[in-house]
Amino acid sequence: MSFSELGICPEILEAIEVLGFETPSPIQERAIPPALNGADILGLSHTGSGKTLAFSIPALESIDPAVRAVQVLCLAPTRELAVQICREVDKLALFLDGVSAVPIYGGASFGPQLAALKRGVQFVVGTPGRVIDLMEQGELKADHISMLILDEADEMLDMGFQEDIERIVALLPEERQTLLFSATMSPAIRKLVDMVAEDPQVIEIERPQLTVPTCEQLVYEVVFSSRIEVLSRLIEMGRMKRGLVFANTKRVVDDIVDGLLARGYAVDRLHGDMPQTLRERVMDSFRKGNLTVLVATDIAARGLDIDDVDTVVNFELPRDPEDYVHRIGRTARAGRKGRAVSFIGRRDFSLLGRLERFVGVRMQREKVMTGAQVEEVRRESLVDEILERATAENELPEELSAIDMPVEQLLSAMFNLLVAKTSRELQPIPEDRPSKFSRPNRVADDDTAPVEKGNDWSSLQQSVTLFMNGGKLLGLRPKDIAGLFYNEGGAPKGSVGDIRLFLKHSLIEVTPEIAPQLIERLGTCQICGYEVNVREDKGRPDAGNAPYEREYRPRERERRGATYGGRGNTNFKREREREERGSSFRDRRNRGGDRNEHVFYDKFSRRPRRRD
Ligand code: AMP
Repeated sequence: MSFSELGICPEILEAIEVLGFETPSPIQERAIPPALNGADILGLSHTGSGKTLAFSIPALESIDPAVRAVQVLCLAPTRELAVQICREVDKLALFLDGVSAVPIYGGASFGPQLAALKRGVQFVVGTPGRVIDLMEQGELKADHISMLILDEADEMLDMGFQEDIERIVALLPEERQTLLFSATMSPAIRKLVDMVAEDPQVIEIERPQLTVPTCEQLVYEVVFSSRIEVLSRLIEMGRMKRGLVFANTKRVVDDIVDGLLARGYAVDRLHGDMPQTLRERVMDSFRKGNLTVLVATDIAARGLDIDDVDTVVNFELPRDPEDYVHRIGRTARAGRKGRAVSFIGRRDFSLLGRLERFVGVRMQREKVMTGAQVEEVRRESLVDEILERATAENELPEELSAIDMPVEQLLSAMFNLLVAKTSRELQPIPEDRPSKFSRPNRVADDDTAPVEKGNDWSSLQQSVTLFMNGGKLLGLRPKDIAGLFYNEGGAPKGSVGDIRLFLKHSLIEVTPEIAPQLIERLGTCQICGYEVNVREDKGRPDAGNAPYEREYRPRERERRGATYGGRGNTNFKREREREERGSSFRDRRNRGGDRNEHVFYDKFSRRPRRRD
């Protein structure tokens, strides 16, 4: 079939020829003719199917160029998509005099968008938040709108735009045509379709299989600061013999490699800055099985062609769904089984939804394995290994045969020694705590968890609080402080309790016996490249034992991850910036002069400066 058989007007056919499209895609072939005839459409098709053209062509044909008013309103979930749709519409409208599309989205100034509306633009593509704002202000008039398009409707619902969409639809003329596109069908989409469309023609396009069924796709909700520990636990539980770990930046790649090396694993990195010869050497080493884990960025892993990777870990989700497909395509090759594990934070749920829609698979939610579970598995695999070796050929070594002791006692001592010798000391993570919420792993995001505890998550029976003049602004994490106290301060296991991070200082609970040693050793010390002091906490100079500054807690809106959507974003950002800058000048003055004596803050940005 050709485009000319679809009933498209000559001007648009000419533009399609200029664009170089030869044959219509299945969604175009099936949606364009009924849409040109005025039918409502429910198109179930994914990104990449050519759906933009499928709705833009009938939309452009419905416009009367003589009427200088909005006639087509297209709603899209993100500003990027709105801009992309406008670009495609403009290309198709190349030979249609005086017809163009304008994107309208939040987070940008109203000026140019208002000017376009005043000029009499006929095709508006907008995000629901900004569109409803302009409609309610009377700037975007609905009386001439004869077509409503909802693109990526499932994503708009996932992003919480349902209410905005309902308000917009209530303001539109009843007499109109509606084209709704969604990658997935769900009860919520069905409800939306019933509300906006009338007896729509349903067109479903089978999506090509992007991932193989032999690849198990799992998701762990893990705070960022716990991820290296969770990754280590995956290795330790024998779930990763040859793993490929992906991160989005070189810096995170380096952090992962450092963290895993410190725990004693055979691991190396691949990133763009490395000379080709070094990269080849690392890949070769991975291929030969000398490395358990290879950590890479997407770009660096491009040339990597290895068949038997058992696990791919997305330490961070990729922004681009295509990258997700490339990443996990490195496992479960040639009919083998494989596993793709993705770590997500609280704010990644919308991105996760986008990835799931793109690959057409719902990923399996898993609970992070607790320290106790890891211990259990370790012990069980030790028993398995012992049993494997316990063949009839084994003879009691001479050294043991002379020992006069019940065999259970001896065996138990040997087993405990083996456990101690082969086990890494697990780092406690928030995910070890039983969840207070019904959802598994409902834990706070990295920087929404100001209170992190030390060794065994139980408060110390008796404790004293130490003060350190470095906190969130230095980018410190509880584990950095715990590392300092245990490694540099020589604190024995279990002697560090709550670690509370504030913007510019931290309070650390320790057992009373160890406090003098810590104050002596860490009186002046280095943490993450900054010089800091640790001393006994004497409380706020003018307020008894109250904290010196407000504990850093992101605002409720941010904690809910509501950073998308146009409205209120700018104010929110400003508030957030104000909060990050810290407390008022008066607060700082009251806090006493000696608190930050070794940490210098830049005069203008108020960010800490390293003291090199
Ligand atoms: P979409 O699903 O609308 O995001 O389109 C995906 C990509 O396919 C876009 O880059 C379009 O330019 C391109 N495209 C759309 N229709 C066709 C077609 N009939 N032939 C070739 N490419 C197309």
